[in-house]
Amino acid sequence: MTVRTVAIVGAGMAGLTAALCLARKGIASHLIEQAERLEEVGAGLQISPNASRVLATLGLLPALEKRWTEPERIVIASGRSLKPLAHVPVGADARRRWHAPYGVLHRATLQQVLFEAASGNPLIGMTLGVRMEGYDRAAEIADLIGVRPDLTIAADGVWSTMRAGVPGAANARFSGNIAWRFTIPFATAPRFLDPRAVTAFVGPSAHLVAYPLTEADAFNIVAIHKGPAFISHSWDVHAGEAGTAFGLDAFSGWNKDIAALLALAEKPLAWPLYECGDGRWFDGKDLLLIGDAAHATTPFAAQGAAMAIEDAAELAQALAGGADARTALAGFEARRRQRIGRVRARADFNRFAYHARGPVALVRDIVLGLRSAESLAADLDWLYGYRPDI
Ligand SMILES: Cc1cc2nc3c(=O)[nH]c(=O)nc-3n(C[C@H](O)[C@H](O)[C@H](O)COP(=O)(O)OP(=O)(O)OC[C@H]3O[C@@H](n4cnc5c(N)ncnc54)[C@H](O)[C@@H]3O)c2cc1C
Repeated sequence: MTVRTVAIVGAGMAGLTAALCLARKGIASHLIEQAERLEEVGAGLQISPNASRVLATLGLLPALEKRWTEPERIVIASGRSLKPLAHVPVGADARRRWHAPYGVLHRATLQQVLFEAASGNPLIGMTLGVRMEGYDRAAEIADLIGVRPDLTIAADGVWSTMRAGVPGAANARFSGNIAWRFTIPFATAPRFLDPRAVTAFVGPSAHLVAYPLTEADAFNIVAIHKGPAFISHSWDVHAGEAGTAFGLDAFSGWNKDIAALLALAEKPLAWPLYECGDGRWFDGKDLLLIGDAAHATTPFAAQGAAMAIEDAAELAQALAGGADARTALAGFEARRRQRIGRVRARADFNRFAYHARGPVALVRDIVLGLRSAESLAADLDWLYGYRPDI
């Protein structure tokens, strides 16, 4: 099968990047997005060098550099004492070591930069404000774009409706954790928040990540703890609507400055963290899942968007040059599943280490105290130094 017409469902990180990467290979595509406007939803994102390398290849770095922050280090700190336990240098060191930047920005900022690039590209069509139901996919798409697609790329996120079309795909399941997100303006932020770092404060069964969002003049705060499952299919659910209380209790034994920080939260947003296990992504014919639709992971390694961006780059490379699409897509799935498996294992390890309690937490703190910044950075070479085929 040769791919001439591509439909992409979902204009999030995966869908927009896929359209741009395909266009770079001369392949035209049409994006279909349920939202009428791509607006300010979601939280901050850390974009690690494995992903920023793809964005740089797409020529997006100048636009991103104007809006994002490149923190100097990633710090793991105690939620009780607030003291750093260990750190990994990023900033200029990331550019030197992994040859690409480590940036932090709002999800909506990245989506906007991708959207602007896609809007100006003659090989990319876009229909906003249409939710695909997926019952008769090819006909639904043909109604919209006037032709039945040779290939549909489902980039419709963790709550994918398109996933039902892939036999053996993994369904989203609740991870047992809830993430809360809010921002604190720089002007009123407590002094213990470091504007030059991504800091993960760790404690029993919970952790809290803080980093600056220059575009918002504020710190992005994400607090993650165990909690009950509830259903939210949106990036924008407030505490009251979520039907669950803001999880202050999970941080009750923590440093009083953290408790004070949580008390400052106005309208925190809630996400139940769902993940997809190791299922199939390709239906063997003309439907492929990418990004969270294929392999949503918990944010413990901050790699969900990065994996969506890597998927997009490697998918375009696989389809380039008129390769037989079925063979190319089967190969893509096999290669990417190995990489995702390794990233998922890292996220699971971080979850175990960040949320450790009692003696395990003590051992974690001692081990981290013995590790040099250089050795911790070297542990991440396989992840951040990865060069997606592009
Ligand atoms: C608290 C938290 C923190 C995170 N931090 C990081 C981080 O620091 N770094 C990182 O790399 N990742 C992070 N992630 C993960 C990251 O946000 C996701 O992995 C990423 O957004 C996935 O991109 P996607 O394009 O696959 O899906 P999405 O971003 O969810 O996009 C899906 C798109 O599809 C559209 N859509 C859905 N259904 C339909 C339909 N039926 N028809 C048409 N359109 C549809 C949606 O409107 C949306 O625009 C974090 C996640 C959470 C929850």
